[in-house]
Amino acid sequence: MMTGLSGVAPGNSPLSLSLDGVALVENWRWLARKSGGAACGAAVKADGYGLGAAGVVRRLSAAGCRDFFVATWAEAAALAGHVGGARLAVLHGVRDADMALARSMAAVPVLNSPEQVQRWKSSGGGECDVMVDTGMNRLGLTPEEATSGLLDGLAIGTLMSHLASADEDSAQNGEQLRAFRAVADRVPAARRSLANSAAICLGADYGFDLTRPGLALYGGIPRAEAAGWIRPVVTPQAEILQVRAVPAGACVGYNATWQAQRDTRVAIINLGYADGYLRAFSDRGSAMLGDWSIPVIGRVSMDLVALALPDGCAAGEGDRVNIAYDLAECARLTGLSPYELLTGLGQRYARIWQD
Ligand SMILES: *Cc1c(COP(=O)(O)O)cnc(C)c1O
Repeated sequence: MMTGLSGVAPGNSPLSLSLDGVALVENWRWLARKSGGAACGAAVKADGYGLGAAGVVRRLSAAGCRDFFVATWAEAAALAGHVGGARLAVLHGVRDADMALARSMAAVPVLNSPEQVQRWKSSGGGECDVMVDTGMNRLGLTPEEATSGLLDGLAIGTLMSHLASADEDSAQNGEQLRAFRAVADRVPAARRSLANSAAICLGADYGFDLTRPGLALYGGIPRAEAAGWIRPVVTPQAEILQVRAVPAGACVGYNATWQAQRDTRVAIINLGYADGYLRAFSDRGSAMLGDWSIPVIGRVSMDLVALALPDGCAAGEGDRVNIAYDLAECARLTGLSPYELLTGLGQRYARIWQD
């Protein structure tokens, strides 16, 4: 059996992420249906948005997903043994230092700049993807570069672009759609791809041949259209290390920001900002024990959080609690984005898949 950092079996780990594999696959299926005729891939960069990319890839491959996207060659190498016959694309493209790895692997680079295009061509070319920037001014060739002849002779698998404001009803979405169509009409490629999670919700016009959802796979609600369909996937679980009696007037935690108004039983759990449970959850987060909702009090420490036990809640040392981690609700409470809430989940959790 695999052991975590602590050397204990994952089932005994005091800190874990409970990962709902059925919900992950159902979310992918919903996104695939909303992608219309397009194939539906999966962005699994940043270790599957913090869930563990290998476990995500295994489940989505089994469900029929054939296209996976990572950011770096190190991420690609870590997944090479898990993708089976699926296609793996590396969004950051190729640096000189990546070429040896890139040439030794089945993954394809997404070429983003004239320099990357030249590098790939001069090392022998072969199948690649190309990113065109249609107005976000992040990564990608300009439309002018893409249609200048620079790409002649390349075997382009997927020509893609990325929307800046798909999570809003913004005129920029239609502008980028038109700009992408104009480039796609002139650059030969086996497939075209524009939509992330939010853009899938914008409708079939945005689907083209292949979609690239990330956030919504993992339970994030990118737009209102997805509410009620996308299911949560991630629940952090922690353990009560100690229960203490805090008398009225005493304070809890760093800088004594929380003071007991009356005698209070306080549970200390093994979770903190080093686990991605950032200080923004201080006095805002909560945990669940059975039907009890138990508020976080005082400052979140690096490895510890205090909870104020409600009257009648008989929680004790060793009890496991579920951390309230609804992404939309936590984003509202903390000001963190759902992307930050997922990708910040640290290395101390045993990642335990239910199915
Ligand atoms: C991360 C990423 C995606 C996935 O975006 P979500 O908003 O998480 O669905 C798609 N395409 C590209 C180019 C990305 O970098």
